[in-house]
Amino acid sequence: MQVAVIGLGRFGSSLARILIDGGHEVIVVDKNEALVQPFENLAEQAIIGDATDETLLRSLGVQDLDAVVVAIGDDVEASVLACISLIELGAKYVIAKAENDKHAKILKRIGVHKVIQPERDSAKVIAEHLIHPKIEERIDIGENHSILEIKAPSSFWGKTLKELELTSRYGVLVIAIKRREAILDKKGEIRGYKDTIIAPPSANTTILEHDTLIILSQKDRIREIERWK
Ligand code: ATP
Repeated sequence: MQVAVIGLGRFGSSLARILIDGGHEVIVVDKNEALVQPFENLAEQAIIGDATDETLLRSLGVQDLDAVVVAIGDDVEASVLACISLIELGAKYVIAKAENDKHAKILKRIGVHKVIQPERDSAKVIAEHLIHPKIEERIDIGENHSILEIKAPSSFWGKTLKELELTSRYGVLVIAIKRREAILDKKGEIRGYKDTIIAPPSANTTILEHDTLIILSQKDRIREIERWK
């Protein structure tokens, strides 16, 4: 993946490092030389420059990149100007960091594809984990449904999906099972674990200890699901 990260504050620099570690081609830009310098031997290009300078943005070939992330929060004017130019230059996917709701609203209005507020977004994830500690992952789908990841409770172990009747009892559809399997060495000793996904499981699939269920559920039944034992 080819990505440009503009603004190397705590968020931008962390994001750029994670992408580089993941083997992606990253262009970094910041007006502060001291923040660009650590990326000189890591990034595809490490540019000291002003993101409101359209010539500089054009020289990045933003229309050919998979995504451009504008990680400038404090200077709303610079963030907005950079985003306008990127969209005008044909950037395919612009993600921009907003400092507050007003900034977010402006970014959405000018056509930024995804607006993020990292502090608020991560606070939401942590609050969700505190409120629903048993739910390991959650993706909301529309107003009323969620896909949830939850450890199979012990009362499910050794039973088939048919026997459990989760759809008729809880309105839940098991769409996949994540099964932890031991990796053995030549002597038959456990060297580690790997997850395999059974998707879709059949009615005759038996739930085992250490299985994680990936289920489609109505949001208003999540509390009930969390009481599974
Ligand atoms: P974080 O919370 O991620 O540390 P921040 O919101 O506190 O970020 P900002 O002041 O928003 O930090 O700036 C992030 C980075 O963007 C800084 O390193 C700053 O030098 C850079 N930056 C700000 N304006 C421009 C600009 N016009 N051109 C290039 N870089 C810029």
